[in-house]
Amino acid sequence: MKNPVIGPTVVENLQFLSGGGEMGMLMRSKDWSRTPVGTPGTWPQSLRTTLSIILNSKFPMFLFWGPELLCFYNDAYRPSLGDNGKHPGILGMSGDDAWVEIWKIIKPLIDLVLAGGEATWSEDQLIPIYRNGKIEDVYWTFSYSPVNDETGKPAGVFVTCNETTGKVNILNEIKESKNQLQFAIDATELGTWDLNPATNKLIGNTRLKEWFGLGPEEEIDLSLAMNVIAAQDKQRVSEAIQKALQFSSGGCYDIEYSIVHPITKKERIVRAKGKANFDEQHIANRFNGTLQDITATAVEKRKTEESEKQFRNLVIQSPIPMAILMGGDHIIELANNSMIEKIWRKKESEVIGKKVIDVFPELKDQKYPELLKEIFTSGKGYRENESVAYLEEALGLRKLYLDIEYAPLFETDNRVTGIIIIVNDVTEKVDSRLNVENTEERLRLAVEATELSTWELDLQTRDIIYSPRLPEIFGHDRSYNFTHAQMRSQIHPGDIHDIVEKAFEVAMETGIYKYEARVVKPDNEVSWVSTRGKVFFNEKKEPVKMFGTLRDITEEKYHEQELLESEQKFRLLADSMPQHIWTADTEGNLNYYNESVFNFSGLTLEQINKDGWLQIVHPDERQENIKKWMHSINTGEDFLFEHRFRRYDGEYRWQLSRAKPQRDASGKIQMWVGTSTDIQEIKEQEQQKDFFISMASHELKTPITSIKGYVQLLQFTHMNTEDTVLKKSLGSVEKQVEKLTSLISDLLDLSKIKSGKLFLTKEHFFLNELIAEVTEEIRHINPEYNIVLSKETKTAVFADRERIGQVLINFLTNAVKYSPGSLEIQVESYTENNKVIVSVKDSGIGINKKDQAKIFERFYRVEGKNEKTFPGFGIGLFISMEIIQRHNGNIGVTSEPGKGSVFYFSIPIEKI
Ligand code: ADP
Repeated sequence: MKNPVIGPTVVENLQFLSGGGEMGMLMRSKDWSRTPVGTPGTWPQSLRTTLSIILNSKFPMFLFWGPELLCFYNDAYRPSLGDNGKHPGILGMSGDDAWVEIWKIIKPLIDLVLAGGEATWSEDQLIPIYRNGKIEDVYWTFSYSPVNDETGKPAGVFVTCNETTGKVNILNEIKESKNQLQFAIDATELGTWDLNPATNKLIGNTRLKEWFGLGPEEEIDLSLAMNVIAAQDKQRVSEAIQKALQFSSGGCYDIEYSIVHPITKKERIVRAKGKANFDEQHIANRFNGTLQDITATAVEKRKTEESEKQFRNLVIQSPIPMAILMGGDHIIELANNSMIEKIWRKKESEVIGKKVIDVFPELKDQKYPELLKEIFTSGKGYRENESVAYLEEALGLRKLYLDIEYAPLFETDNRVTGIIIIVNDVTEKVDSRLNVENTEERLRLAVEATELSTWELDLQTRDIIYSPRLPEIFGHDRSYNFTHAQMRSQIHPGDIHDIVEKAFEVAMETGIYKYEARVVKPDNEVSWVSTRGKVFFNEKKEPVKMFGTLRDITEEKYHEQELLESEQKFRLLADSMPQHIWTADTEGNLNYYNESVFNFSGLTLEQINKDGWLQIVHPDERQENIKKWMHSINTGEDFLFEHRFRRYDGEYRWQLSRAKPQRDASGKIQMWVGTSTDIQEIKEQEQQKDFFISMASHELKTPITSIKGYVQLLQFTHMNTEDTVLKKSLGSVEKQVEKLTSLISDLLDLSKIKSGKLFLTKEHFFLNELIAEVTEEIRHINPEYNIVLSKETKTAVFADRERIGQVLINFLTNAVKYSPGSLEIQVESYTENNKVIVSVKDSGIGINKKDQAKIFERFYRVEGKNEKTFPGFGIGLFISMEIIQRHNGNIGVTSEPGKGSVFYFSIPIEKI
């Protein structure tokens, strides 16, 4: 039966469909007339009421109504239908059409409810539905309850439902992950534990309980578990737990210890890891974690440690130098004593734990750092023999030759972690080998250099082996081959029998082969050779081999000959000389005398050699002779000496001996060559002359003194005369007599000096006073000269006043004499170093260097066109020197020709 659609009244009746959001609107606008339930106006009250509840509820609700189980639902239910699915098509559709895919599942439930049964409750039920364009697994928690109509019978089924797919999925995921955790725990064979710090009760998984030998109870007392821990570890574990439970520790727990199964006594090494959780008061409320059986790895580790230890021991104890470098920096982790002491020459503390390059900075420029780097990166070992290394030492770089082996050390993962170095010091071996090589090479070069040839003769076969120099000496090419017989045939016929063959016979007896002989070269040129050889005998004492050398000595022979000839010439020459000629070695020993020496002395060479040369020197001069000779030998200065030699008849004769050193190119003295010339006659003449001078001056002195007296008398008597000629003449006579007097007194002094009779009469006097007196005297005679005194010492001296005055007069008269152009003379006197020094300076003609040294000699006068004009004997300075030397003083001159001279003397101030 169908209800007609009627006007506003109907609309009014549809109040129950008000509100309800989208679904309310859909229900109101839907043309219900075509549905079995008819237009809403005809709907029974029970349906209306139910729909009103549904539309106004925010809880997902659904209604199956009437015999067709028509579908109604609210906005809250709508999302469960997804997009592109049943919504909004199923509104008012019969249940079996709307829910085809699940009808089989829900129809029985609906029927059950409609049949008057209880309301149903299903939780998290999987009911896949079509939505979102596909069948989806959807979980529901729902309840079906009957809706009775006015008759009191169930006319519909009210469904409140909630899609729980999300929740179920999460739960499923948790379950899944729990399973996975469990799986992981199982797979890694981990024990798990969970300690309640409040109760000290422990929950553990089966594995853990098994390991600890604990019962199946859910909760175990911590103390029970602690009992199982090995005694030595208990304390440590307990402390670690206490620490983890303190908030400040961060709750971390990680410890290894041993447990001993209470029944089986099986020991296990475990590693416990865990974390404590803390509440707001920082009190630990949970402490859980895992336990891992590391027995196998610990044992493994122990084994590795053990083997590592053994390895280290091996290195340490090895007599072969070894070291281990770790890491890319090559830190010396280990090195044995041989390495440290013998190779490195360091102390252990200087090397261990340090980088190789820091310990040996000198390696920087050597190949080793590069080598180590290469090994470390490539993992390939390296070996080298006689590798050269330089190590720094106090005395400089030490060169070493080392056989080296570098091997990489691998970790279990094949990574290179270090390098082991094994070395063998072969320095000594290499050095000595190089030495031998060098020596051999040197010897070869030396042999070549000496132009020596070597040979080896087989005495049984007469086969000869020789160096290339040998045929050369015999006048052939260096590569020429010849036999022993051919060699022999080249020996000069005059020498073959008497020299060579004889020498050979001697060699067979003595073992030594030695001769000098002539060789005739193919071009008939004759040369000299010298051979030296040694014979080797076998056990039967038979000569088997001879080794030797052969040298060309032609040139030496030539020089020898030359020398011989020149020596002969020299002897001939020397022997024909009337003078004595002799030579001496560098130490002064006389080793050659010419014939004249033997003739004069009447001695033989043997006699002279036996008693010495000095035996013929007069005893008075021997001492001085030795002194002078040794002085020359020590200084290399020429030897010059006058002494008397005893003639064969016992008479001593004066000789003037001179010797000069003979030097080589470098100036080194090789020998001395000396001559001794007989000067007996000259000496005698000199003595006669001295005698004459002495006598003449003595004889002249008296008449001169009387002349002087008469002249002075005449001057005195004619003092006031007007006769100027007479006055001038008397003055000249006085001047000349004065000169004559001084000349004669000089000659007298000279003979006194010669005969050693110049005596000093010393007294104390002031030198300045003497100087004043003398200069006054000179001024008197030479009034035109300006004699200036300066410094003027006030020192008193102890000396011969007259003689010192004589020296001063000599200086001053010379100064006047030799400075005709300039009229100033300066006289200085002063003390210095306990000496008093007097100098006389003129600006006269001066004296050249060569003459300066000689003017103090007897009769020496400077020769020159100027000097000729100056009268004199050349004895004044000689006497002055004698006087000053007898006062232990010094006398000398500095002068420059053309500028003037300074003559000076000094005498020591004698303490009074
Ligand atoms: P002489 O009687 O010849 O002067 P000395 O022994 O006094 O003898 O002097 C030796 C020589 O020294 C002189 O002949 C002269 O050549 C040189 N001589 C000495 N004094 C001077 C001087 N003041 N200036 C230059 N020459 C001098």
